[in-house]
Amino acid sequence: MAHLLILGGTAEANALAEAAAEAYGPGLAITVSLAGLTRTPVLPGAGTVRRGGFGGAEGLAAHIRGEGVDFVIDATHPFAARITANAAEACAATGAPLLRLDRPPWTPQPGDDWRIVPDMAAAAALLPALGSTAFLTVGAGDLAPFATIRGVDLILRLVDPPRELPIEPAALILARGPFTVEGERTLLDTYGIDVLVAKNSGGAATAAKLTAARQAGISVVMVDRPRRPAGPVAETVDQALDWLGRRLAERGAG
Ligand code: NAP
Repeated sequence: MAHLLILGGTAEANALAEAAAEAYGPGLAITVSLAGLTRTPVLPGAGTVRRGGFGGAEGLAAHIRGEGVDFVIDATHPFAARITANAAEACAATGAPLLRLDRPPWTPQPGDDWRIVPDMAAAAALLPALGSTAFLTVGAGDLAPFATIRGVDLILRLVDPPRELPIEPAALILARGPFTVEGERTLLDTYGIDVLVAKNSGGAATAAKLTAARQAGISVVMVDRPRRPAGPVAETVDQALDWLGRRLAERGAG
């Protein structure tokens, strides 16, 4: 039996596990790996879930060998740079074919006022020049650069209640997408938000804030994606399934 390891933590990873199970049935063992950081993750409807880090690239390579993993699809979030680098290193070391499933980034639309920055430190540095009430949609692990900025109220939205925060937000909103444009407009108006900080995650579930910002005429500080290792990339679950089908055919022929 062939064994597919999906590095997950995204809606696409879950959708891929379900589509692969549907396409290949019991002849394909599917494992979906989660970092284990989210307290109540959305779980895939197919495959076996494992949780927790592997112990770096070497640990992942040992897992691939030990569990008889034949193929790896890295469907982690575009900003999860460490696991993506580890996957490239581990697959190079073990010879397991690797595909990166990467949803397309958002692109500015007419009427948008985007300031594209390379990282979170650059986003924080730019903020005081753009507004006085900022909506941070960047994740609990990305807040440290905002600790030193002054004169800007920070409205923070997170999925899980944080254990501790490096900033003192003016408001903390706990919510999980998908979000609607109407809901995001109400939120911008309620808090008097005049600048939005976002990571260029792409995807439909959290894109409504960008439409709302455009409608409200406020600036968006858009943090660009980190660089990814070279290698094959699929933009959709269907493309990833095609890649998997070709690898399975090669394996069957080999
Ligand atoms: P990261 O910085 O790239 O990874 C940090 C460490 O977490 C990795 O070195 C690895 O530990 C472990 N890890 C990450 N993803 C894993 C996975 N799918 N399975 C097993 N271990 C994993 O990642 P991150 O930005 O903290 O993101 C963690 C998870 O949350 C990812 O699965 C990602 O898809 C999801 N996520 C991230 C974001 C984001 O904005 N970064 C947003 C939504 C969802 P070891 O080195 O010990 O193996």
